[in-house]
Amino acid sequence: MTTVTSMKCACDSCLCVVNIGEAIEKDEKYYCSQPCANGHADGEGCGHSGCGCS
Ligand SMILES: [Zn+2]
Ligand SMILES: [Zn+2]
Repeated sequence: MTTVTSMKCACDSCLCVVNIGEAIEKDEKYYCSQPCANGHADGEGCGHSGCGCS
């Protein structure tokens, strides 16, 4: 049995990898941050260093 504990943020433009235990889950996808989960509706990035998603 394989348990996946981390995966890339479901946001396309985001490079972040999130632990599933800490991720923000939305529609069975996992996001690293609230702005990503919202589809960057406010134009905000996730704020993680090295990541330019927004
Ligand atoms: Zn990001
Ligand atoms: Zn993200």
